[in-house]
Amino acid sequence: MSRLKNYLTSKPENEQHSAAIAYLAALDHIEKTSPSVSASIIQELRDERSHLKLIASENFSSLAVQLAMGNLLTDKYAEGYPRHRFYAGCDNVDAVEEAAAQELIQLFGCDHAYVQPHSGADANLVALWAILLHKIQNPEIEKLGKKTLDELTPEEYESVRQLLVNQKMMGMSLNSGGHLTHGYRHNISSKMLRSVAYDVDPKTELLDYAALAKQVQLEKPTILMAGYSAHPRRLNFAKMREIADSVGAVLLVDMAHFAGLVAGQVFQGEFNPIPYAHVVTSTTHKTLRGPRGGFVLCQQEYSEAINKGCPVVLGGPLPHVMAAKAVAFKEANRPEFKTYARQIVDNAQFLADCFLQEGVRLVTGGTENHLMILDLSKFGLTGRQAETALREAYVTVNRNAIPNDIQGPWYTSGIRLGTPALTTLGMGKEEMKEIASIIFSVLSNTKAGVVQKTGQPSKASIITDSAIMDQARSRVKNLLSRFPLYPEIEI
Ligand code: PLP
Repeated sequence: MSRLKNYLTSKPENEQHSAAIAYLAALDHIEKTSPSVSASIIQELRDERSHLKLIASENFSSLAVQLAMGNLLTDKYAEGYPRHRFYAGCDNVDAVEEAAAQELIQLFGCDHAYVQPHSGADANLVALWAILLHKIQNPEIEKLGKKTLDELTPEEYESVRQLLVNQKMMGMSLNSGGHLTHGYRHNISSKMLRSVAYDVDPKTELLDYAALAKQVQLEKPTILMAGYSAHPRRLNFAKMREIADSVGAVLLVDMAHFAGLVAGQVFQGEFNPIPYAHVVTSTTHKTLRGPRGGFVLCQQEYSEAINKGCPVVLGGPLPHVMAAKAVAFKEANRPEFKTYARQIVDNAQFLADCFLQEGVRLVTGGTENHLMILDLSKFGLTGRQAETALREAYVTVNRNAIPNDIQGPWYTSGIRLGTPALTTLGMGKEEMKEIASIIFSVLSNTKAGVVQKTGQPSKASIITDSAIMDQARSRVKNLLSRFPLYPEIEI
C-alpha cells in the first residue's frame, strides 16, 4: 500500500494534516520514478530524527517552506527582475519575487531587497560586483565620455577591467572565523580583488576595532567586509561604518549566520547592520530558517546595481526557491519568531556556561549569538576526532579551527556548536544541560588512535568506550523522543 493510503486508512482523523498528506503523496510519487531518491529522502528524515543537530549553520525549515519548493515554478525562466524580464509570461514569478522582497523589507526595514541569489556565496558575489560597478566602473565610463559599457573600445574596456580587478577588499580572516568568500586565497573573491584579511586579537580573540581602524587607514580598501561563520560575538556595525567612512570604503555586511537574530530583534542598535551597512548579504537557511538560498539588502543608492545580479553574476533565478523564501520570510515576520530568536541565544549561552563549568575553554570565553567554539585541548583530541566520536554518539557537530590553530583547517583544534535547529524543535535550558553532559562524557572518554605505520598518535582515528557510547546514544534517543521532528509525517 502507498504511504499515503496507509496513513489515511490507519489515521482517518489525521486527514486535516494536509502537509503530511502532501509530503507522503510526494514520496509515493517520486518513488515511482526514482525509488533511490525517495529512499534517500526518507533515510535523511530518519537520520535527522535520530541525531542531535548542533550544526550552527543548519536549521529545520517548516513543511510550508519545503512544500513551496516542490512545484512547477521550477520550470520557469525569469532572467531580469520583477516587471523587467527577458522572458514572456513571468507575471506569477514577479508576484512571488515581489512578495519575498516585500517580506524582507518589512522584516529588516531596509530600502531594497534582492532575493534571487541561489546561495550565500552567490549573494556575496552579486554584492561585491554591484559595489564595484557602481563605485568604479560607472564613474570610469563617464570619465571616458561614454554612456554605457557597450560604447567602449576594446582598449578602453580593458583599462576599466584592470581598474576593477585592482580594487582592494578587507574581510575577517578564515583563521579568525571569517568566511571563504570574504577574500580567502582559494576563493574567487581574492582573485577578482586584491584581498587583505584582518584578524581578531590573538589574546582576547575579539575584534579589536582600534587595530582594525589603523589597518584600514594603511590599506585603504574600496570594500570593508564584516561578518563571520565561526565567531561567537556580536559585531558593532556603527564602529565598522565609522572605520569604513574614514577611508571612503563601502561597508558590506554578510549576516548569513545571524540574520535570524537581526530579524528577531535580538541584535539591535549598533549590532543591527541594516542602518549602518551600504549593502548587506545573507543566506536564508541558517538562523532565518528558510530554504537554502541567499539575498542582498541595500540602501537605495545601490538598488539598481544589485538588481543587475543577472547578467553580472547569475543566470535565471530559481522561482520555486523564491516562493519558499517568501513563505519563510512571512514566518519570520510573525511575532513568535522574536521569541524563537531570543531562545536560540539563551540556549547557546546556557550551553556555553555548562561547558565553562566543566573547565572547557571556549573561543572568546563564551557567546553572544547562536554558536560557540570549543577548544578541545582539554580532551587531547583534534576537531576531526571529536566530530567523528560525537557522530557515533548521534550528536552532529562540525570541526572548526580556533584562532591560530596549530592543527590547521583540516584537522582543527575545535568544534563549532550551534543551537538554531534544536531550538526549532522546542528545546530549552534543561535539554542544553543534558546535551552538554552527553558531549562532555563522550569527549572525556574518547582517545586518539595511533597511526599504524609510525605508532604516532593519529589526528583522525579514535578509540572510544563502547559502554559510554551506548549510554550517550540512549540519552540522545530519550531526548529526541520528547522533541520529534515533523511529527505529523509518520514514517
Ligand atoms: N557567508 C557566510 C558568513 C557563511 O557562513 C556562509 C556559509 O556557511 C556563506 C556566506 C555561504 O553560504 P552558501 O553555503 O549558501 O553559499
